[in-house]
Amino acid sequence: MSQTAQDIRPLPVVSDRHVDPHAYPDGIAFLDGQYLPMSQAKISVLDWGFLHSDATYDTVHVWNGCFFRLDLHLDRFFGGLEKLRMTIPFDRDGVTEILHNCVALSGHSAAYVEMLCTRGASPTFSRDPRQAINRFMAFAVPFGSVANPEQLQRGLNVAISDKVRIPPASIDPAIKNYHWLDLVRGLYDAYDRGAETALILDFNGNVAEGPGFNVFCIKANKLSTPAIGVLPGITRRTVFDLCALEGLFATPADVSVAALREADEVFITSTAGGIMPVTMIDGSPVADGRPGAITGRLMALYWDKHKDPAWSSAVRYP
Ligand code: PLP
Repeated sequence: MSQTAQDIRPLPVVSDRHVDPHAYPDGIAFLDGQYLPMSQAKISVLDWGFLHSDATYDTVHVWNGCFFRLDLHLDRFFGGLEKLRMTIPFDRDGVTEILHNCVALSGHSAAYVEMLCTRGASPTFSRDPRQAINRFMAFAVPFGSVANPEQLQRGLNVAISDKVRIPPASIDPAIKNYHWLDLVRGLYDAYDRGAETALILDFNGNVAEGPGFNVFCIKANKLSTPAIGVLPGITRRTVFDLCALEGLFATPADVSVAALREADEVFITSTAGGIMPVTMIDGSPVADGRPGAITGRLMALYWDKHKDPAWSSAVRYP
């Protein structure tokens, strides 16, 4: 027996979690040519970005009313679009203007600002990605950090999961993407073991990265960070730039699990939080269990550099 639309009774609403505007962070999104409150920024469930994780994005932060290293984030975003053969109706200046407007309209002086493009949906639900209409969006919400203030002070407690990061032969990690199932599974491993966050491995069994961050270790005043199979983070790049300014040796290299456990200092890096110390790995302290001196020096420099006009640009508030 066939059903008509009239035969189908509406289902009772069992939860308003996804429709309650108060459940959204305070912010402004740009979508389909309009600036909207976050609660009104919605996409189709048929969008390939949602159905197939077919999307690329970038996140830049605003601190004290200034974007930090926006040019590098735009480079990475436009690089990802090209590699995924996506096109958007805005050039660099156009995207820059949209990001400024999202932050200005939100009124935030410390913001997490995301630009993203999904493959989009095709009007016929075709399986051919070339028929989908790519969709650019952006939003600005309050700044968020991987580590909270207490964790920043005492250092994070991290577990190394045996989950393996999706290899670069499958997905070029320089295309910033939402393929996070490996990272999320690693995170649950970490929670099960009483840790606060996770690091997962590369395909050779060395340390790769964590959910939303790169990792550095320091041994005998020399810094190293995983070379392959990781997102080339802008904060990671900033650490290299700061080390060059400070005369510190830093290099991308294989970082074994043992090397990380035996390091003098360990820290993670992300636009969401900057440079963040790690003082516990798999239940054992890193060195004396306190954030290290070089980490502290780099953290201070990192935030100081937010005042340098060479690395930061003021948001155009009205
Ligand atoms: N690695 C992954 C998987 C990420 O998602 C991120 C940021 O979201 C990072 C590393 C850090 O990159 P960035 O310093 O550019 O924020």
